[in-house]
Amino acid sequence: MITVENVDAGYGPTTILQNVSLTVGEGEIVTIVGANGAGKTTTLRTIVGQIRPRKGKITFMGEDITNLPAHEVVDRGIILIPEGRQLFPDMSVRENLLMGTYRKAARQGQAERLEEVLELFPRVRERLDQDASSLSGGEQQMVAIARGMMAKPKILMFDEPSLGLAPIVVSQVFDVVRKIAATGTTVLIVEQNVFTTLKVADRGYVLENGSVVLADTAEALLKNDHVRRAYLGI
Ligand code: ATP
Repeated sequence: MITVENVDAGYGPTTILQNVSLTVGEGEIVTIVGANGAGKTTTLRTIVGQIRPRKGKITFMGEDITNLPAHEVVDRGIILIPEGRQLFPDMSVRENLLMGTYRKAARQGQAERLEEVLELFPRVRERLDQDASSLSGGEQQMVAIARGMMAKPKILMFDEPSLGLAPIVVSQVFDVVRKIAATGTTVLIVEQNVFTTLKVADRGYVLENGSVVLADTAEALLKNDHVRRAYLGI
């Protein structure tokens, strides 16, 4: 579904990503794991057109999207849930969710879409009329994910969904990721929480200093010596 081929990207004069290649197949849950600063967020921002690659190519469903403006990437159904949720704090949960229908394909039938999405998020339904700022961190993350789903994504990309959440809440977030994948939405997750993410993913990439150093099934990565030593503390 998405192919990233030999991409270099960075900020100003600094190159962060070097020769990054990865693929995400339709219906898969794929993860990019790595330490703080490895370039995970930069990879997602490059895919969605917020950063222009200096080299390489990005295709989506067979079409070249390397130089598309970010809003056109969104219109194709590639939706990023940014790190830190980025909700509108003074708006109600319902208003935040409706902001997710910025994609052309999602603008019609907002009320029906809201119902469909709320089926996946019963706790969010109970809080529709509260201000987003009054929610717990876990609830805010659920609203951020639900807002992403409002856009009818073909692929939903998560930037560190577990950041700052208690372990029990992290497992609820990953349960929702599984449910989303089960509805047929393709998933790409960037995480520092390596163990939990590899447990839900089909395949994974390990990113170090802007380069992919390992690519394998999640099962194989969990058994990999380097992954165990460097990321799982085993
Ligand atoms: P984190 O988990 O901390 O988000 P990450 O793997 O997602 O880490 P990136 O956010 O992609 O890493 O950052 C990779 C490198 O790019 C870091 O050294 C960071 O300081 C640098 N960087 C990120 N954003 C910018 C920016 N807007 N301008 C300049 N450098 C940046």
